[in-house]
Amino acid sequence: MECTKCHNVKNFEEFSYKNENEKIYYLYCDLCRKKTQIIQFKYKEKAKENYNLKKINNIVECECGITYVCFRNYHIYRHINSKKHKNLLNSFINFDTKNK
Ligand SMILES: [Zn+2]
Ligand SMILES: [Zn+2]
Repeated sequence: MECTKCHNVKNFEEFSYKNENEKIYYLYCDLCRKKTQIIQFKYKEKAKENYNLKKINNIVECECGITYVCFRNYHIYRHINSKKHKNLLNSFINFDTKNK
């Protein structure tokens, strides 16, 4: 059976069953499957790392004085449209007019 990944023709012993009852084999040999599993694992680790980095780097300091973490653009819109933000901005405006 030819492995669809490394294209080596290998014995069936080098393939695992995807479904043992129906005698369905994985299309990748065990070696390739292991390799892809490692790559997937590394990818997941990297994604986790990136997420943590983003957490640190995407801190937005808003004009209302609130600091928040923003991963996506819609987080900004969500904050700007939030009552908290509007109330804080309004209180600033009121504060300014009172002092004039
Ligand atoms: Zn292979
Ligand atoms: Zn704000």
